[in-house]
This record gives sequence, structure tokens and C-alpha cells, in this order.
Amino acid sequence: MEEKILKFREKIKEKKLIDSMLALLQWDLETQTPKGGYKLLSEMIGELSLKSYNLTTSKEFITLVNELKENENGLDDMLKKEIELLIEEIDKVKVIPSEEYRAYSELTAKAQGVWEKAREDNDFKSFAPILEQIFYYNKKFIGYRNTGKSLYSVLLSDYEKGMDTERLDLFFKELKKDIVPLLREISRNKRDFKKKIEFNVSKEQQKFLSKDILKYIGFDLDRGLISESAHPFTLTVSKDDVRLTTRYFEDIPFSSIFSSIHEGGHGIYEQNVDEKLKDTILADGASMGVHESQSRFYENIVGRSKEFWIGYFGRAKKYYPDLENLTIDEIYKGINQVEPSLVRVEADELTYSLHIMIRYEIEKGIFSGEYQVENLPEIWREKMMEYLGVEPKTDSEGVLQDVHWSCGLIGYFPSYALGNVYSAQILSSMKKDFNVSGVLERGELSVIKDWLNSRIHRYGKLKSPEEIIQMVTGEGINPKYYIEYLKEKYRKIYN
Ligand SMILES: [Zn+2]
Repeated sequence: MEEKILKFREKIKEKKLIDSMLALLQWDLETQTPKGGYKLLSEMIGELSLKSYNLTTSKEFITLVNELKENENGLDDMLKKEIELLIEEIDKVKVIPSEEYRAYSELTAKAQGVWEKAREDNDFKSFAPILEQIFYYNKKFIGYRNTGKSLYSVLLSDYEKGMDTERLDLFFKELKKDIVPLLREISRNKRDFKKKIEFNVSKEQQKFLSKDILKYIGFDLDRGLISESAHPFTLTVSKDDVRLTTRYFEDIPFSSIFSSIHEGGHGIYEQNVDEKLKDTILADGASMGVHESQSRFYENIVGRSKEFWIGYFGRAKKYYPDLENLTIDEIYKGINQVEPSLVRVEADELTYSLHIMIRYEIEKGIFSGEYQVENLPEIWREKMMEYLGVEPKTDSEGVLQDVHWSCGLIGYFPSYALGNVYSAQILSSMKKDFNVSGVLERGELSVIKDWLNSRIHRYGKLKSPEEIIQMVTGEGINPKYYIEYLKEKYRKIYN
């Protein structure tokens, strides 16, 4: 047994090294590769992905994993969990022919550049063929698994175990039932509202603030960095090298603040997985829903609270001197203005879920054959009108706005909605332990970080999402807290 475990650890080390290399290539691809470099870089990603595939599906590795599984009584909890997750991964991957696996990895790498250019040029037609192929491969790969469930449900459960279209349909229906009347209520009480915060801040100043605010919330810049990309994201090379991106609009100075805080929430999670999980495959978030609960917690519950701005105001003014002309109350109302808008990542908390529902319905429709990729711009516009009452004038601010589909992240979007719901449940538990508002006002963000570290982050993938939410909140997922949070917050803001 000892020998087998040693052999296993060697293999996992190799697997993790390949993953880190892939992460670095991905980082390069999304932050700085010149257009001319996409082709070769995509091939490099394809080649390395194949290496990872070969390792995971090799007879030697599968035998080793199965032997450890048969003797699992002698294994510690960590190793048991690794074996459990690896068996699931092997089952998913081994059914895919290697040449298809490689082709798909190369395709999604290539799609980044195609998407970026299409978005720049407002040219959906140039992106449609590659998007079509991405959907095609996703359907095909899931089909190989023969689970008996609908293909899209299987995809959803890959991001959040146990999730399927029935559960999500119900979940979204419930959210809609409460959010839509609240939105109506707000639009009736909008009259006395001051206009949006309007001033320009240079990109350089925004960069300084982004770094400062990350430090302020507890992201460790010695073990991470922040850069720029077309769409903000977080990427983990290792827990000691966590990389974030944001983007800067000089005329929307709060955009980079909130995307930095959002990615910072992901980053804090990754950096604070228990040291003893570092060399295992458990050094990762429990699920994408739990991951988004951390980023959305920091972005909204922390970053869009009045108390946070009371605490951070003095520092913020150093970088954004125009804030001097505003009161905390004006800032608070300005950053929480409810207004149906075109872009998801800039959306207020209340309309945000509607953006997610649109993407969910579109993905579901493509999987069922109801929608065709070529018609997506039109479908997108119709749904935006139906849900939010606004219509994008260009595809760049419509169907081309998100990076996810080009990366192959189909089925990912509901993670944001689950994250929102989890985040409000987490807040409710946190409040039982200490005065969250007081801590924010005094700028003691380490109290929040330590609480999240010890209850969520440190476990990595050692516990399942259900176990974590149960442990932290004493119950399973429950949208009630999120709805209450929204009602309380927005009724106060809008009287
Ligand atoms: Zn996120």
C-alpha cells in the first residue's frame, strides 16, 4: 500500500504540474498574446491538454486509482476524497476519444481570440461557426457518458453536483416571483433619485485603487497579482500564485472597483485553501457555486454596503479625488442604483439574476434544439426586452459580452445565481457570530476573511458544496435569505 500511495502522489504531482502549465498558457492567452500568437499558443494548449488526458486515462493510473479505492479503509480522509473525485473525473474523460479531446482544447483556446475580435468588431457572424462547434463538442462529450439524464442537466451538474434543469427551473421561478414585483415597486419610487456617480478617473489611478482595495479586503499580493483582460477572471497557477484580471473604463470608475473585489473574492478563496491540501487535487473551490458565493459576497455584501464605504472612504479619496464632492450616502445610493441594463457584470444586485436566467434559457434552448446558434443575437434581444425591458444596439453589448462560451464554460452561468443565494445564507450565519456592519465600518476586514477562511476556504474540495453550506448555515440551499436580503436592502434605499 505504502508503495502504491507513493506512486499515486508522484502521478498527482505530474498532473498538477501540467495543470499549472496549462493555467499559465491560458493566462498568457487572455492577457497579452498578440493576435499573431493565438495559433501556436492554441496548439500548445492542445498538446499539453492531451498530455493531461493521457495521464488521467492511462491504464496504469486507472489501475492505481482503482486499487486504492479497493483498499480505501486504510486511507486518510484526504486521500479517500481524492480517489472519489478522480474516479468521477476518469469516468467523464475516458469516454472521449483522445483526438477529440485535443481538438476541443485547441478549439476553445483558439475561440478566445475569435471572440475578442468579434466583440471588438461587433461581428457575431465571425464568432458563430466556432461557437457552434463548441456547443457541438459539449453535446457530444456529454452524450458519451450515457447517464440517462438530459444532456444539459449533466452539464449543469458538472459545475454543481446534483443540479439539473428541473431544480433550476424551480429555483429561477421562485427568484423571479419575488424579484419582479420588487423591481416594479422600485421603479415607482425612483423619482427622487440622484443621478449616477459621474466623473472620470484615469486608468493609472484606477489601477492603484484596484491594488489597494485588494490589499484592503485581504488578497495577498505577494502570492497573487492583478492584470487586465477583455473580461475579468481569476486563474490559479497554485495557491501561492493566484492571478486576477479586471478592466478599466475611465468614464465608469466604479466598474473596475467591483470587478476587482469580485475576482478578489475568488482569489482569497484560492489562496486560503489549507496548506496540507496544497499538493493534492483538493486545492480548489468546493464547486463553482460556492466559488461564486465568495466573489459575490465580497462584491455585493461587502463592497456595495454603506459600512464598507464608511471604512474605505479615506483611502479611496486618495485615488479618486472626485469622491470628495460626494457624501457616503450619495456613494451608497449611486453604487446601488437599480436600473435594467445591458451588461451582466455591471448589473445591480436586483436585476443581476435576470441576466443569468436569460443565459440559462438560451443554453437550455440550444441543447434542446429549440434555438440555433446563428439566431442567438435575435433571441438575445428578445429575451432582454422581455426580462429587462432594454435592447442592446450592438451584439458586443449583447450576445458577445461574456467570455464564458468561448472558453467552453456552458452550464456555468447558474453558478452565479447559486452563489448569490449562498452568499446571503452565509451572511445570515456570519451575523450570528459578530457585528458585520461594525467590522466593515472600522475597516477590520480580516475578521470577515478569517471567518470565511476557517469555515469555507480551508476545506478546498475536501467537503462537498452541500456539506459546506450545511456546516456553515445549518441548512441546505435556501433562497429565502437572499430574497430577504434584497428586500431589506432595496426597500431601505428606495424608501
Ligand atoms: Zn466570479
